[in-house]
Amino acid sequence: MRYPKLREIKEAVRSLFTKPYTTSFPQGKFTPFAGFRGKPVVDEDNCVGCETCANVCPPNAITFEDSKETAIRTTIRDYGQCIYCGQCEEHCITRKGVKLSDEIYDLSCFDIQEVIEKQERELIICANCEAIITTKDHMRYIHEKLGPLAYSSTLNLNILNERLKLAGTGDTSVEVVDELKRKDSFNILCPNCNRQVQVKNLG
Ligand code: SF4
Ligand code: SF4
Repeated sequence: MRYPKLREIKEAVRSLFTKPYTTSFPQGKFTPFAGFRGKPVVDEDNCVGCETCANVCPPNAITFEDSKETAIRTTIRDYGQCIYCGQCEEHCITRKGVKLSDEIYDLSCFDIQEVIEKQERELIICANCEAIITTKDHMRYIHEKLGPLAYSSTLNLNILNERLKLAGTGDTSVEVVDELKRKDSFNILCPNCNRQVQVKNLG
């Protein structure tokens, strides 16, 4: 038979009189320590739907679905898969789109849908080839960052014209009826189609 060592007996006796190292959560309240990483919380006013966070999320807890029919991007955040690494907060392009909370840390539930969040953003779609360019909020954010430099891009200029209603009715995203022509340089086109128009204009 193996007898406990003196050190082990001392530790056992001491533990009878010291406070437990673990918390009594969920019976007792848990007080997060400084820098605690809890559930990521999206700030709807500062998230532009750029999807950078989806690209850096290690377990793919953030995914997105683009619909050309409705011109809507749906971002799906499944916190059941989140590992609280903080990469989404670290790489958020606006620096304010998502932040890890130190108040929300208990996500246990019986229905997985309760920990899935969805956000919707309007898309910008090429009037010629229907390629998805990005979200309107993302483009607005870029315009604000660039300031007057945004006017150096034809795409940006057309989107700004549409927004400020400077061009005709203000709706420049009309359909391209036949093949790309010079007049289509006023349409909202993806970089590839825009290049085709510019090459024609030079020819
Ligand atoms: S990186 Fe930031 S702004 Fe872009 S989708 Fe994620 S939370 Fe929103
Ligand atoms: S904290 Fe990490 S795992 Fe969780 S959503 Fe953000 S990037 Fe993904």
